[in-house]
Amino acid sequence: MSESFREALVRGEILVADGATGTNYQTRGLERGLAPEQWLYQEPDQVVQLHRDFLQAGSNIILTNTFGGTALRLAHAGLENDAAQVNQRAVQLARRARSSATGNGRVWIAGSIGPSGQLLEPFGTLTRDDAVAQFGAQARALADGGVDLLVIETQFDLGEATAAFEGARAVTDLPIVVSFSFDMGTNTMMGLKAAQVAQEVTALGADMVGVNCGRSLEENLINLQEMRAATHLPLWMKPNAGLPRMTDDDIAIYDVTPEQMGAAAARWLEAGAQIVGGCCGTSPQHLQAIAQAVARARVKA
Ligand SMILES: [Zn+2]
Repeated sequence: MSESFREALVRGEILVADGATGTNYQTRGLERGLAPEQWLYQEPDQVVQLHRDFLQAGSNIILTNTFGGTALRLAHAGLENDAAQVNQRAVQLARRARSSATGNGRVWIAGSIGPSGQLLEPFGTLTRDDAVAQFGAQARALADGGVDLLVIETQFDLGEATAAFEGARAVTDLPIVVSFSFDMGTNTMMGLKAAQVAQEVTALGADMVGVNCGRSLEENLINLQEMRAATHLPLWMKPNAGLPRMTDDDIAIYDVTPEQMGAAAARWLEAGAQIVGGCCGTSPQHLQAIAQAVARARVKA
């Protein structure tokens, strides 16, 4: 790879991340209640295929299927003793997809690090030291596997986000994105606002801060704008395809169309986002519309 991810970032290049992992796996047959990481072993071809579909749609950055890849969270899938192997296998499958992709130039692989699924003391029983160690172990496995950057995502608690950052930074110099989910609309579950988390993440020394998942596109645009006003860091924007409605049997339906998602992406770029993609509900078709919005913005620039 000629140019590093950090060089492209510093140069201010606008880049396209990918779409959802979990909701697309569910569309493709992942049983509800099964951890997406199980598919690394049960359906590796499906894992590679979704990466390929996003690359085909125009992604420059694909995220590994390791959102639940701390040993703490893999315990729910019975994979806690194989955490390093799970993370490295996910990187391997992403690399396989990249090596067979043609046409959209450089592709970087981002190691996804989601929340541990436990609350830190005093709200829960997880100690800060343990959290730092567990996130550090995941980051090390992802780095050893060969990712180009790390994305600590869907964070809602500053204690956990800073523990994850500290654990990761202790084991690697890779670029690190820290991204929050504003599940209450313009607050995280722990009541944090976008400006506050942007300032805290900037002080940590992260490479990027951002918004992912959350609720409606309108609310997430406000969160992005608040971040822009609060930090000079480049911004990552990977929201859900709008607020889902729940069916009677509790399945989330995302009504935002690819065209609407593409129109929203143009507003994210106007608001100062540098890397854009989508979270839950974002299909390869939605991602293609986002990539087209980026291509139009590049022409204008
Ligand atoms: Zn999401």
